[in-house]
Amino acid sequence: MFFLLLPTLTEPYPWKIKLEIGLSNLNYQFREYVERFITECSKEGINVWIYDTLRPKDVQKALYSQEREPLELVNRLRERAGLKPIDEKGNKYKVTRLQVSAHNYGLATDFVLVAEGKPQWYGAELWLRCGCIGLSVGMEWGGLWRGLVDKPHIQMKDWRKFATFNHLERLIIE
Ligand SMILES: [Zn+2]
Repeated sequence: MFFLLLPTLTEPYPWKIKLEIGLSNLNYQFREYVERFITECSKEGINVWIYDTLRPKDVQKALYSQEREPLELVNRLRERAGLKPIDEKGNKYKVTRLQVSAHNYGLATDFVLVAEGKPQWYGAELWLRCGCIGLSVGMEWGGLWRGLVDKPHIQMKDWRKFATFNHLERLIIE
């Protein structure tokens, strides 16, 4: 599931994210971190869009297969997950290092800085600033990872504990 949250003009901070639309698929505990992250960024005049939250397992499987499997199989998995096919060039890049991601439990989110209504994918300093804000509110930031650096990615610290707990909780309720 992919979301683009469009900020709207309000006071006292210039931007407000429509939380009820985009963050509702997140784990309720993690959601509070993300809300704080967005607020702290806006206090510094940095506006962010949240563009990916909960990722179903079949989507994760398709993304994990990229660069690891032949194009034909990758696109079959993508079709099953409701994703558009990619070409040979696209299949040269790894997009995730995990078969199971914090995204699958609503414990991670991907963001991008936005200026004048456009996502800003470049600008190392601002990415670093955002990453530090993510860390300061108690999350982990993918920009510090070795190997596959993932600057847009922030996730719950020790997310596996929360994933297990919530899974058990759900089993008990059901
Ligand atoms: Zn991510």
